[in-house]
Amino acid sequence: MIKENIASINKRIAVSLARAGRDPACVMLVAVTKARPAEQIRQVIEAGITDIGENRLQEALVKYGKLEGVKWHMVGHLQANKVKEAVKIFDLIHSVDSLRLASAIDKHAYAINKTQDILVQVNTSGEPSKSGIKPDEAVEVIQGISRLRNINLKGLMTIAPVADNPEEVRPYFRELKGLLDKLNRQAVTRQPLHALSMGMTDDFEAAIEEGSTIIRLGRAIFEG
Ligand SMILES: *Cc1c(COP(=O)(O)O)cnc(C)c1O
Repeated sequence: MIKENIASINKRIAVSLARAGRDPACVMLVAVTKARPAEQIRQVIEAGITDIGENRLQEALVKYGKLEGVKWHMVGHLQANKVKEAVKIFDLIHSVDSLRLASAIDKHAYAINKTQDILVQVNTSGEPSKSGIKPDEAVEVIQGISRLRNINLKGLMTIAPVADNPEEVRPYFRELKGLLDKLNRQAVTRQPLHALSMGMTDDFEAAIEEGSTIIRLGRAIFEG
């Protein structure tokens, strides 16, 4: 089932990219494996997915020792007291939501001689239950983050609200893309930002049409 699901997802990705007139290979699929056993994750890896996302450090640490040859993505909220361990295992932290958290990551990355790739999470919908900086704080926060030497800021991430129809959340994806373009136009960072982590099981096609470069899928891979 997992193999078939991934084949069908890959087709849907290709169709969305074509519809948007985008390059065929410009979207990375991260398999979000929270609460899924290592055996199922092995099937994902066998199907050719090498990017694995977790939303809790503790769970990621357990799986980290069991699975080799994959890249690890932190997609959940990261607490300050977990940063030291997180920096040891994650290739990309999607959920940086303050300058303070970025500074802690920078400090621990420096200590192990690493440059940590990160994304800044933006709360595009303004829902109080969601983490992320406010869009109007982005320039200031990102200016601060781009001064940190052991941080490599690659782009932005957002989580859309739950909706019955993906068209309802398309504006949030468009807003994140607009924000990335604005940061690049204003040259807020040393290097232009390219990564946009947006799109989950219910809305990834709309996200791709709006410029997503990283989609994070759980249910589409493991269920159905
Ligand atoms: C769980 C989770 C996902 C995957 O969600 P699905 O709807 O199962 O595709 C993506 N991003 C984050 C941050 C998550 O916590």
